[in-house]
Amino acid sequence: MQSTNQQKIAIVTGGGSGIGLAIAQKFVENEILTIIVGRDPQKLTQAKEKLGNLCVPISCDLTNLAAIPKLVQQILKEHGRIDILVNNAGINMKKEFTEVSDEDFQRIIQTNVTAVFALSREVVKYMMSNGGGSIINISSMASQYGIPKVIAYTASKSAIEGMTKAMAVELSPKGIRVNCIAPGFIATDMSAKALNDDPERKHKALDRTPMGELGTPADIGDAAVFLASDAARYITGVILPVDGGNSIGF
Ligand code: NDP
Repeated sequence: MQSTNQQKIAIVTGGGSGIGLAIAQKFVENEILTIIVGRDPQKLTQAKEKLGNLCVPISCDLTNLAAIPKLVQQILKEHGRIDILVNNAGINMKKEFTEVSDEDFQRIIQTNVTAVFALSREVVKYMMSNGGGSIINISSMASQYGIPKVIAYTASKSAIEGMTKAMAVELSPKGIRVNCIAPGFIATDMSAKALNDDPERKHKALDRTPMGELGTPADIGDAAVFLASDAARYITGVILPVDGGNSIGF
């Protein structure tokens, strides 16, 4: 679908499921044309059926870094502009520290960090030429405090928070705001895998969440809509926990 002049255009990576789907849904509800990117075409088609005309699915494996400049060019050619980028796609891996191979570690970093950098760089080149934009990264409680058995994921999400600040200061003069949402424990397939077969971890997660329940993907969607909007025009470089108080829980 071609955008109108006033219409904002967003890219949401991993927008076919979980938190990314909820972010895409909130964007669409706010009349933002939302391009969702993921590897699984079936997942993307289902999301498109759910979200309707303002949702545009594009199948792409973001770990294929060579494909990223072409992806951004394709989006610009078809839709004319990019106002918002949400770097949401991510993978997790739960393993004992000494069991994690170099390949395991690299796989997580490639998806959660390197692809985020490469896509942001290409989008920023366009945003700089167009006078600005908003980028939202997604980190995790794993970068707020130590969680065992997720060493590569923790390293990746800590990198995301550092990159958010570095990008925010360097890109502010170009009109580009860069913020980060740090979700607490949110009910999705990813967290189900990490928590449902580990009742002790689930108990621990909820026990230190003052609000006493898992968050919903829509809670993250609402925060993303705010950070992407003009209501957040003076906010950049922020790591915003959306976590029911988990990060400050006793
Ligand atoms: P999901 O597994 O539901 O979503 C991850 C998405 O990323 C999928 O849609 C997947 O699509 C996409 N993706 C993964 N690898 C690639 C790739 N190489 N190229 C393109 N797309 C890819 O998990 P969540 O919704 O739970 O997680 C979303 C984000 O939120 C992640 O960054 C995660 O770390 C973060 N997060 C989640 C928390 C939670 O409690 N759920 C807590 C804190 C952070 P496909 O398989 O089609 O490629």
